[in-house]
Amino acid sequence: MDYFKNFINGEWKDSSSGKYTENRNPANTEDLIGYFPSSTKEDVNEAVKAAREAFKKWRLVPAPKRGDVLKVVGDIMLQRKDDIAFEMTREMGKVFAETKGDTQEGIDTAYYAASEGRRLFGYNAPSELPNKMNLSFRIPIGVGGIITPWNFPMAIPTWKIFPALVCGNTVVFKPAELTPKTANTLVKIIDEAMHEVLGKDYIPGVVNLIHGSGRVVGECFLENKEIDLISFTGSTVVGKRINEVGGRELKRVSLELGGKNAQIVMDDANLELALDAVLWGAFGTTGQRCTATSRLILHEKIHDKFLKMLVERVNKLKLGYGNDKGVDVGPCVSEAQRETVNDYVKIGLNEDKATLVAGGDYAKEGNLAKGWFYKPTIFKDVTPDMRIAKEEIFGPVLAVLKCNSLDNAVEILNGTEYGLSSSIFTNNVNDAFRAVRDIQAGITYINGATIGAEAHMPFGGVKATGNGHREGGWTVYDFYSEWKAVYIDYSGKLQRAQIDNY
Ligand code: NAP
Ligand code: MG
Repeated sequence: MDYFKNFINGEWKDSSSGKYTENRNPANTEDLIGYFPSSTKEDVNEAVKAAREAFKKWRLVPAPKRGDVLKVVGDIMLQRKDDIAFEMTREMGKVFAETKGDTQEGIDTAYYAASEGRRLFGYNAPSELPNKMNLSFRIPIGVGGIITPWNFPMAIPTWKIFPALVCGNTVVFKPAELTPKTANTLVKIIDEAMHEVLGKDYIPGVVNLIHGSGRVVGECFLENKEIDLISFTGSTVVGKRINEVGGRELKRVSLELGGKNAQIVMDDANLELALDAVLWGAFGTTGQRCTATSRLILHEKIHDKFLKMLVERVNKLKLGYGNDKGVDVGPCVSEAQRETVNDYVKIGLNEDKATLVAGGDYAKEGNLAKGWFYKPTIFKDVTPDMRIAKEEIFGPVLAVLKCNSLDNAVEILNGTEYGLSSSIFTNNVNDAFRAVRDIQAGITYINGATIGAEAHMPFGGVKATGNGHREGGWTVYDFYSEWKAVYIDYSGKLQRAQIDNY
């Protein structure tokens, strides 16, 4: 059986703990993928030291050259896309087409980052004084701590690591304990590309990988004073903790947190299209996406008809191992995650008004008993005050609510603490634009599912979904760089701004 390692200072290394955690296939727990190190504070400190040392050299590599590394990373990922996706499905459960998409997002992010190496634009502005020039540049920050969840085990780390590197930072990466193998694959590819592009000028320690739990390894990131910035995607509760400690230590912190996303279907909508979208949005990735459709807000005029269409289709979804052909929905990622889902279903069942119309139980028929499967579940007659309408479940559970107008729909949609993704199906152009204006979310889709972000667009949310930063596209480069203002005075005399000219 394979024992995997950490990656520190350009070498694969065992943890100082000598301890390991098992990684199993959530669709078939008899399938043992390997053992991954349970790392310690010493491991983290060693990795941070290496990253700090590497920063001295990496920051001086020209940004276009740093971009060349990312170009090669993208090329390798593209060559190995199917193999990477197969192993990702085995590790975290979502179906092969989706892990291929997850990998493609990494490729897109690599190529975007590669080209950004030739941009990283600054602004120039005129000086208020004669014979003086004002410029501004992006400069790297230092060592980045990268902490990621398991649901997009390739895309999310690439959203963070690639722009961090192109901007000239070095990184220490802690992936979720549930998806360590994908992290190993990614770091191995980055290191191959570093060797290929830098050759004899290879710099060890630019990217370091430390496996282990959030409680141990993640917490060490927070307290380590040599980590200048932390980029985190995960739950709101952990995000708040990181913001608290990071705030005290003056670390730069980017948080992408939970969601309770809704799809609105108005009475003039194309119902077939809205149906395809909600099935994909609610049950794709077994509902374990931060942008998953967790609430469906139906106009009262189409409510009964649409719900009937939906339940028919949901009951036909095929559960199974995501690498098998014809499977629509994989398992929950772990037993604990499935228990959370089941607990929320019980909460829904205890509500007087809410009624279960699909699923509501573990799926245990045949081979499904070997994994953490849960039946795609729908509650109708949910009201905005219910916990299943307000709290993130992160599983295949959809709450259906009723609305009687656009304003009413938007009010319901906005009625949660989160604000990540949102969607409205309507053929009324005025309603569509009003929804864009009034929905409180970082992402709004018109006639599209709540999921489907593209790598070159800003990604993130408002309210409790984050702390104002965005990943993706051009926006993320602001997080990974600082501004330096440069004044060049060629007048040959001391010119005092604000004083000599006024
Ligand atoms: P989580 O428990 O917050 O874990 C996320 C990461 O943080 C994992 O690597 C975890 O380590 C680590 N961690 C846990 N406790 C920590 C601590 N005290 N200090 C530092 N790091 C710590 O979230 P999850 O349950 O894995 O992921 C699901 C959540 O992520 C959902 O709430 C979802 O909405 C959110 N999410 C958000 C986005 C977005 O972009 N907005 C995208 C995907 C997911 P271990 O798990 O290995 O112990
Ligand atoms: Mg696993």
